[in-house]
Amino acid sequence: MTPNSQAHEPMRFLSFQRIFWLGLLCVISTAQATKQIAITFDDAPRPNSSLTSEQRAKALLIALDASGVEQAMFFVTTKHLNEQTKPILDLYQQDGHLIANHSNQHLWLHRTELDTYQQDVLTADQALRDYPHFKPYFRYPYLDEGRDKKVVKKMQKFLQKLGYQNGYVTVDNYDWYLEKLYQDAVKAGDKINLVQMKQLYIDVLWAAIEHSDRIAEQYLGRSPKHVLLLHDNDLAAYFIGDLVMHLKAQGWEIISPLEAYQDPIAQQVPKTLFTGQGRVAALARDAGASPQELVHVAEDEAELQRLFTEYQVATAVGAAMPEWFIAEMNSQVGTWQTSNAQYRSDSEPYTDYAIEWTWGLGENSLDGRLYGLIDGKPSDDFWTYKLFWDAEQRQARLLQFGFGGRVGDGFIRPIGHGQIETIQTHSAPDFPTFTERHLRVLTPDGLLTTSFRQSEAGEWQGRRSYTWIKQPTAED
Ligand SMILES: [Zn+2]
Repeated sequence: MTPNSQAHEPMRFLSFQRIFWLGLLCVISTAQATKQIAITFDDAPRPNSSLTSEQRAKALLIALDASGVEQAMFFVTTKHLNEQTKPILDLYQQDGHLIANHSNQHLWLHRTELDTYQQDVLTADQALRDYPHFKPYFRYPYLDEGRDKKVVKKMQKFLQKLGYQNGYVTVDNYDWYLEKLYQDAVKAGDKINLVQMKQLYIDVLWAAIEHSDRIAEQYLGRSPKHVLLLHDNDLAAYFIGDLVMHLKAQGWEIISPLEAYQDPIAQQVPKTLFTGQGRVAALARDAGASPQELVHVAEDEAELQRLFTEYQVATAVGAAMPEWFIAEMNSQVGTWQTSNAQYRSDSEPYTDYAIEWTWGLGENSLDGRLYGLIDGKPSDDFWTYKLFWDAEQRQARLLQFGFGGRVGDGFIRPIGHGQIETIQTHSAPDFPTFTERHLRVLTPDGLLTTSFRQSEAGEWQGRRSYTWIKQPTAED
């Protein structure tokens, strides 16, 4: 027995009284008992991200302590344990938190042989069992409890034999996807607005909690002791304290996971195979709810992506033009000419083609024009171009305009070995859209360009090659 479990005894008594009174009050009013929720973290201890494992763990523990969370449960994925991360489990324990089993390899049950899966649970069990704060709770990775009734039953029996209980959740959400959006933005070098990120994190998780609680009220007739699923990630380390303060401000009480798992729903094993959204959703499904009403926005990647943009969490820092693009503009500026002898025909009578690049305003972009020549006599322009750095998209863009409203819109980029690739979508009124690619590379003979069209099957098919020679300017 830990000092903490003793501290929870009077609370359990209070809850019992409260439930009793709630029963009476419900008849005459909508008075609410204090709602309760426990906090759990999966996939601990995570490898380094924008924070090291140790920095993250320390920040998380400080936030839990500062916001008055006495006990949380860390579901450990033991494949992440090594000499660097093992001491993190000791840090969890020192602060009174609990350690539980989240498997070794983090496998999908429905995609794995049962023997392999059970062996994986045992591997984790052996790695964790001797920790003083270990509690025999198993959380199924991906909340995948199996999609075959026989497997589901066999796993239940297996865990029972091992002395384990199901470390279910009642509030599912995609906090891991918010984390991915955040980490991607960090990697891209975006400017992150942490105030907005915090608001998004709290709003999404609070919506998920309220949603699950509404489902519980509707289908179980009461608000159970909830178990919140979170992951050991940077966002949790930054914002768990704010989330807890928000919950408290809404009148919720944070309880130990051990207390949450005393709720009667811990003994109600769902009959449905719809368990991936957590226990409340599964029991609601048993009670006749449709899957559509059980899944929440907080479990929708596209919606989270939309919110991430709407909250303006990340701003692209596009001021700096890359070196390669500056070099590219400097080498292009001037007039280039190529022979068309290879492709010349009655309908294409030009002996040569020429492209002229001049600096745009402030020498930050290039203006271009392409025309034909018949024995040295230039034609009108066929195309005009604008090559510029798009700071918002962080791409070197190439736009071109031709007759009849024809527009080519795309980008250029270096692809190694001195090659520059251009990909453009060409469109025009009453004309089918197509995608064109150009490769160009400077050779001893001149600038070699090759054009490609995309086939129906999506393959690039080479069309024409030209070797362009830079023309001496009047000053040369
Ligand atoms: Zn997990």
